[in-house]
Amino acid sequence: MASARESVGGVVLEPGDEGFDEARRVWNAMIDRTPRYVARCASAPEVAEAIRFARRNGLEIGVRCGGHSIVGHAVPDGGLMIDLRPMGAVEVDASARRARVQGGALLGALDRAAQAHGLAVTAGNVSHTGIGGLALGGGMGWLARQHGLTCDNVLSFELVTAEGEILRVDADSHPDLFWALRGGGGNFGVVTEFELALHPVPGDVLSVEFVYPVASGTVSSVAAAMRRWRDESAAADRRATYNATISDGTLSLGFVWVGDPVDGEVAAAELATSLAEVAPDFERVVVPMTYLELQTREDDIEGHAWRRYWKGHYFSQLGDEVIDALLARDGDDLPNVSLQAYGGAIADVAPEATAFARRDTAFEFVCASKWLDASDDERRIAGARRHAATLEPFASGAYVNALSDDGAAGVRRAYGEDHLARLTAVKDAWDPGNVFRLNQNIVPSALAP
Ligand SMILES: Cc1cc2nc3c(=O)[nH]c(=O)nc-3n(C[C@H](O)[C@H](O)[C@H](O)COP(=O)(O)OP(=O)(O)OC[C@H]3O[C@@H](n4cnc5c(N)ncnc54)[C@H](O)[C@@H]3O)c2cc1C
Repeated sequence: MASARESVGGVVLEPGDEGFDEARRVWNAMIDRTPRYVARCASAPEVAEAIRFARRNGLEIGVRCGGHSIVGHAVPDGGLMIDLRPMGAVEVDASARRARVQGGALLGALDRAAQAHGLAVTAGNVSHTGIGGLALGGGMGWLARQHGLTCDNVLSFELVTAEGEILRVDADSHPDLFWALRGGGGNFGVVTEFELALHPVPGDVLSVEFVYPVASGTVSSVAAAMRRWRDESAAADRRATYNATISDGTLSLGFVWVGDPVDGEVAAAELATSLAEVAPDFERVVVPMTYLELQTREDDIEGHAWRRYWKGHYFSQLGDEVIDALLARDGDDLPNVSLQAYGGAIADVAPEATAFARRDTAFEFVCASKWLDASDDERRIAGARRHAATLEPFASGAYVNALSDDGAAGVRRAYGEDHLARLTAVKDAWDPGNVFRLNQNIVPSALAP
């Protein structure tokens, strides 16, 4: 063990070393685990050495990109963290409309590099999220209805396997891995580079919100507004991603428009007219911004200091009974809720084409609590669980990247039986010993309970 620094190229940190505490701290402040080593890898061969070293010494591996796994999967207690952040570069080939994105890059680096050429690809809503976890689980964002999920735009991966082999994975070479890496998470190896297709995105955005006060006397009218918003979403232009937020006291209904703002204003006026027919008592908030502003506007609200708990569901339909349950909000310590529409280009891809399974999703639901004081943990977590449980009977599945402490049942909800069987076959072929298990785990057949 004393030979960690010689065995693993690059920088290896141990408890007490400068930078060690920063590396083990992740987005959710509830995560307080201490690895034995942090290997700050700067190349695929260094990642391969780190994997081999961990295996020789029986150390659990955690892979860190943005550190935004809600349950802190990047941080192995007593194990070896492969910290990919030294591999954070993004290189854009504007004429080929392609980006080479290193496996430790954050979304902000991708957005900035691509927008410098008037290009973009679907990325998530918060710029300090990592491309690694996001793209491997799917990758939802404001461009997905136009251009598909992030994983739908991957042309190839550079992958370091459990054996320490460095592979180029695309549709022709290793098609089983190419299928599994587009939705199957960090189960099959460490991705050191994503090659992504880019699209012309001039960068004009409108954020459109109609904000209703919610009090006990107004629930029936806001429910009528939400039903109307849901109905309008079904035929929405792909440039519009319908979204809603519910917190104590307000309901915000609207959409984010990425495209010509003149057309966006027309769509906003149409939605306003439609909502006013059933519930006119809203405040209209329409804000023009650039794509890069959109992609960073939640960075502070979603900052690192907070203790966090999330639960997520997918709904293939937002029935009236779901809307009633969303608005019921009985009890204390309720989480904030957000809904984001899928459809469009996401649903153009056949469900069997990628490991990401839930192509029929109409809306993603996430309920999120944040607080600062550890003594509030139990009641805040209980409040979020209780609220999510009232919605679960209506759910059609879950997004693997929004799972938290859902365990094997959550993984089944994310993939469904057919996809899970196929993912297990790929896991058996490439990681039968479950070297990569600190994730939403696909358990190899030989180790199944
Ligand atoms: C504030 C916030 C906003 C979010 N917004 C969105 C959103 O808009 N859209 C969306 O789709 N999701 C979103 N998510 C969910 C997000 O996709 C997941 O939390 C994802 O796991 C984050 O990836 P990461 O690289 O930052 O996390 P990490 O904690 O670094 O990694 C999570 C896991 O992913 C795997 N992994 C990461 N990088 C690699 C790699 N290079 N190779 C192999 N495995 C790897 C590992 O298993 C690792 O344990 C959001 C999450 C947060 C906290």
